[in-house]
Amino acid sequence: MKKKDNQTLISFYIITIFPDMFHSVSNYGVTGKAIQKKIIDLNCLNPRDFAKNKYKSIDDRPYGGGPGMLMSVEPLYLSIKYAKSLLKNATVIYLSPQGKKLNQNNIFKLIKKKKIIFICGRYEGIDQRIIDSLVDEEWSIGDYILTGGELAAMVIIDSIARFIPGVIHTKKSIEKESFYNNLLDCPHYTRPKKIYDMIVPDVLLSGNHNKIRLWRLKKSLEETLKKRPDLLEKKILKKEEKIILNEFKKNKK
Ligand code: SAM
Repeated sequence: MKKKDNQTLISFYIITIFPDMFHSVSNYGVTGKAIQKKIIDLNCLNPRDFAKNKYKSIDDRPYGGGPGMLMSVEPLYLSIKYAKSLLKNATVIYLSPQGKKLNQNNIFKLIKKKKIIFICGRYEGIDQRIIDSLVDEEWSIGDYILTGGELAAMVIIDSIARFIPGVIHTKKSIEKESFYNNLLDCPHYTRPKKIYDMIVPDVLLSGNHNKIRLWRLKKSLEETLKKRPDLLEKKILKKEEKIILNEFKKNKK
């Protein structure tokens, strides 16, 4: 994705009964700047505005009984249809604990979609007929239950935003982040050199770029081996990385 001036690179429509929650992505930090610069286009639609009943209610009791309420079909159906008419060919995503679990690779896939409508469930969730007729994909941010899909949508938008050109990163710094190439990031230090008896590793002050690169690679491999060995199992190792890992193993014996 290349950005021309004033060109929106990704558009989101959020179906939510709490649109104000999204002020935290549109008013703060790098996502806020990207939205203000219109690199990211973010809009909310409130199903309550589509409710035709007198009290504008958007929930109802589940058929068959049981605890809790469900989001009613009509306001949700009409708001999703309206979002689809505004954002042609958008992928409709329902944030759901039952969805595919999010990881960095999936974030890269979602970026390519360019137009996304997020449905944020509330209460006990949404009517299955909405999922069957209007939802293209279901995504979860982890194996735990939130009270609503809004935080999940914000997590996805925030992590997508970081990789949109003009928002934060150069390609080089993306490649150094945790999970890129199945490695965790190396430790980082900033000024001063010494504080409260804590020091910066000498190599980082040496000015020797190759030594610094090698130290960082070793530390990345070490951190990954210690904290997330599962990532190394998936990683295609370069010759240099294999040598470093073999050294770690030898030193352990
Ligand atoms: N009854 C549902 C179940 O057990 O699968 C949970 C409903 S939850 C209380 C309400 C809403 O929060 C869901 O409709 C969904 O939109 C959102 N949600 C909850 N946990 C989530 C997760 N881990 N990832 C994404 N969305 C989640």
